[in-house]
Amino acid sequence: MLHDNNMLQDNHAINAAGHLTVAGVDTVALAEEYGTPLYVMDEARLRRNMRRYADTMSKYFPEGSMPLMASKALSFREIYRIADDEGIGADVVSAGELYTALSAGFPASKLYFHGSAKTLAEIRMGVEAGIACFVVDNFEELHRISRVAGEHGVTQNVLLRITPGIDPHTYEAVNTGRVDSKFGVAIETGQAFEITQEALETPNVRLIGFHCHIGSQIFEAAPFLDAVDIMTQYMADIRDRLGYAAEVLNLGGGIAVPYVFRDPEVDLDACIRDICEHLTERCKALSLPMPKVLMEPGRSIVADAGITLYTVQNIKVIPGYKKYVAVDGGMTDNPRYALYGAEHTALVANKAAEPQDEIVTIAGRCCESDALIGENMALQKAEVDDTIAVLVTGAYNYSMASNYNRVPRSAVVMLKDGKARVAVRRETLEDVIAYDL
Ligand SMILES: *Cc1c(COP(=O)(O)O)cnc(C)c1O
Repeated sequence: MLHDNNMLQDNHAINAAGHLTVAGVDTVALAEEYGTPLYVMDEARLRRNMRRYADTMSKYFPEGSMPLMASKALSFREIYRIADDEGIGADVVSAGELYTALSAGFPASKLYFHGSAKTLAEIRMGVEAGIACFVVDNFEELHRISRVAGEHGVTQNVLLRITPGIDPHTYEAVNTGRVDSKFGVAIETGQAFEITQEALETPNVRLIGFHCHIGSQIFEAAPFLDAVDIMTQYMADIRDRLGYAAEVLNLGGGIAVPYVFRDPEVDLDACIRDICEHLTERCKALSLPMPKVLMEPGRSIVADAGITLYTVQNIKVIPGYKKYVAVDGGMTDNPRYALYGAEHTALVANKAAEPQDEIVTIAGRCCESDALIGENMALQKAEVDDTIAVLVTGAYNYSMASNYNRVPRSAVVMLKDGKARVAVRRETLEDVIAYDL
């Protein structure tokens, strides 16, 4: 079962020593210097991805349209400094993400606050910081925001999170657009209309438009075009029934990235162009003003800017069954296999020029049978102390890391101009017990 497993990107190469390089930096040397497991982010790639969204959106959509980086995909201070520098906004879903962004100097005026169970304290924090907008998920939250804004003598901008009732055929757990989703308010049940009417009558809040997010790891434009159909129809209904014209349409995140050789690459320009053409057509047909468009890319901005490095601890062959390559990380730094059965591509970084002619299971260190990096992965012949590179781990790896089994969280290094710098330091054993009394 051998296949062409070469997922190397144009920021990856193999140097004279046969080592994998990222942005011109030898990954084996990085593993030696900073230890493993190690998250490695290529700053140029990250900036390219941000800029590509910003440029493409401003090319097609009306002025004021903007990408908002979804913090949940990757959140630490340096990310917000870079996002601000590239002129994009961000969404946050918790006091922690908001605090991280603000503490990095990210302007509150480009922050959108999401989440399906915002606490009163989080709402206060957002209002006091002067964030751009809350994406309101439910009736209770709308009233809480109104109350807090009133106490502070301000009018708070809000978007309403609408559930369009779309199944983008993605994995169940990352599918959020269906009627029975825990997020938002559904059009189908009439509750979207009710919350819109209520938002227009609620003091201290100003409704600027609507939001929908249909899912994640979506490879084609079609589900977004369906969302545009439903949302514009909804906007026209609201205009007809309530005389309200939305200024902003937020289409959420969800554009896919390739993780394994059979995944296609999404043509971002074509995808956004298709969305824009469809939206323009629909607005014309329904006599709606063209709204400003927001998008919330997470994965498609950060995923392919990151890799993770591990060190092989042992190799276990179960004759007639399988070969395990055990590494010094796993579910604590990358829970995606355990959560979703997500697939990744890996290689032996110090043997990158050799053929990937073995099929192995890369096992993580945690005490769960499913705590794997992946099964049936093509790999060079691995030996103890080899460096394993797992590709496309910039999204939902560091941000989902845990201290399960009391494993200290790994460091993040950023690469720029051939140099590495620590963006998040490695946790120590003292950090692990820091909150124990
Ligand atoms: C998860 C999420 C995103 C980001 O999704 P990606 O698939 O990483 O692009 C954006 N908006 C909302 C509301 C989300 O829940």
